[in-house]
Amino acid sequence: MTDCIFCKIASGLIPAKIVYEDDRFVVFPDISPLYKTHLLIVPKRHIASVNEVDAAGDAALAGIFAVAKAAAEKVGVAAGGYRLTVNTGLHAGQVVMHFHMHLLAGEPLKPL
Ligand code: 5GP
Ligand code: ZN
Repeated sequence: MTDCIFCKIASGLIPAKIVYEDDRFVVFPDISPLYKTHLLIVPKRHIASVNEVDAAGDAALAGIFAVAKAAAEKVGVAAGGYRLTVNTGLHAGQVVMHFHMHLLAGEPLKPL
């Protein structure tokens, strides 16, 4: 088993409050939320970052926006609005090297 924390959560080795799950993605709350709603949309396949996306990785990520929408609806923030963010690499502040998309919502977000 890899030492990757998100692989461990995605495989169920480490428990998390799963908001949404299908055959390719898991969605769970960020451990250190920046807003009232802060979810992480995580592919079950290990892809380190956007920089490592190849054809297979691209296929593994297909449908991620539908998953984001489903998760937003499930936690009741779809109508109010939300932001989807993907940090890639050092300058963006990526700290977990397993691709993930942040879903931020639940209150007015700071402008980018
Ligand atoms: P990044 O800066 O890499 O885009 O964001 C990584 C996010 O993962 C951070 O917001 C951090 O709080 C969150 N995180 C790190 N470790 C864990 C963990 O073990 N469980 C959960 N739920 N979130 C984590
Ligand atoms: Zn991983």
